[in-house]
Amino acid sequence: MENNTGMRQWLDDFKLSHPLVIAGPCSAETEEQVLDIARQLKDSDVSIYRAGIWKPRTRPGGFEGVGAIGLGWLQKAKAETGLLMAVEVANATHVKLALENDIDVLWIGARTTVNPFAVQEIADALVNTDKIVLVKNPVNPDLALWLGGVERLYNAGIKKLGVIHRGFSTYEKTKYRNIPEWQLAIELHDRFPDLPIICDPSHITGRRDMIQQVSQQALDLNYDGLMIETHNNPDKAWSDAAQQVTPERLKEIMANLKVRNKGAEDSAFNEQIEKLRLRIDEYDSRLIQVLGKRMRIADEIGALKKENNVSVLQGKRWKEVLERMKNEGLPENLGEEFILKLFRAIHQESIVHQEKIINSQHS
Ligand code: PEP
Ligand code: MN
Repeated sequence: MENNTGMRQWLDDFKLSHPLVIAGPCSAETEEQVLDIARQLKDSDVSIYRAGIWKPRTRPGGFEGVGAIGLGWLQKAKAETGLLMAVEVANATHVKLALENDIDVLWIGARTTVNPFAVQEIADALVNTDKIVLVKNPVNPDLALWLGGVERLYNAGIKKLGVIHRGFSTYEKTKYRNIPEWQLAIELHDRFPDLPIICDPSHITGRRDMIQQVSQQALDLNYDGLMIETHNNPDKAWSDAAQQVTPERLKEIMANLKVRNKGAEDSAFNEQIEKLRLRIDEYDSRLIQVLGKRMRIADEIGALKKENNVSVLQGKRWKEVLERMKNEGLPENLGEEFILKLFRAIHQESIVHQEKIINSQHS
């Protein structure tokens, strides 16, 4: 897949606003609910109405979606409001039904993007159609898998493409439902600047009080749009209740968003940012040097442990280091989660170094 493929042309063709806003319930529940929310979003900056019809649930027993009947409700909502309609598809049958019901936008969910068989099946079912297709990131932070999904669609002749960044699962508990790992989405955007990128703060945060902040972060990173789950009675939603907002709150969130300039024109600004970047570069170089020094000490410790036949991993010592660093991070305004990640990585590298020493020159 090359750049300049016209992948973002659809944004202009449909005269979609900047940022593009996709809103609507996690799940279509009843005809009244679908129509009520759509009516409330009609005269706003929302361009695309979303509703899950088939819901992939992590565990059985949850609400699995109303199924094909909901597609008729979306057709009614479209006729009444003029909004474009979007649903999640996970297989060829979903695609066929969505096409028959004049759905405008199909998105591939995070649990489907992980499966190349499923993505290929969807791509095959879309050959010779002209739909907008958005690929959510896979649940695991794997850029190749995400891109692979986009490429399968592109190779099937789908040209109106985009990606949705909805964050990644982790085993550890964090303040996010799915951690953003922004650098991954930024890398994707750098490699394919043509590919529209949409942030889904609802699934990233899992809670409605964080949606404003994460939406703003996405705009600050030049994202093209947002997908925000919106429900007329969020607390009573049949799925993802904690993260949905009312249409009224959505409008507030949109009004509060600051859309920044992309920068280029203002030379004083450029100069200033360039200087700041240079300072960052300098600190980054120092970080690498300090880490090198730290590892050389780890090597010495490794040699000592070898001489004394002591095991590499000393759990108590590691916990102490972590505690101390968390405390030292506080006045520097470094979050606990960051310190934990950073020192896990450093510790891991130390262990690798020490193992090397211990396993070298067997006598
Ligand atoms: C959704 O958009 O409701 C959904 C199921 O999302 P994801 O695939 O990101 O979990
Ligand atoms: Mn959802």
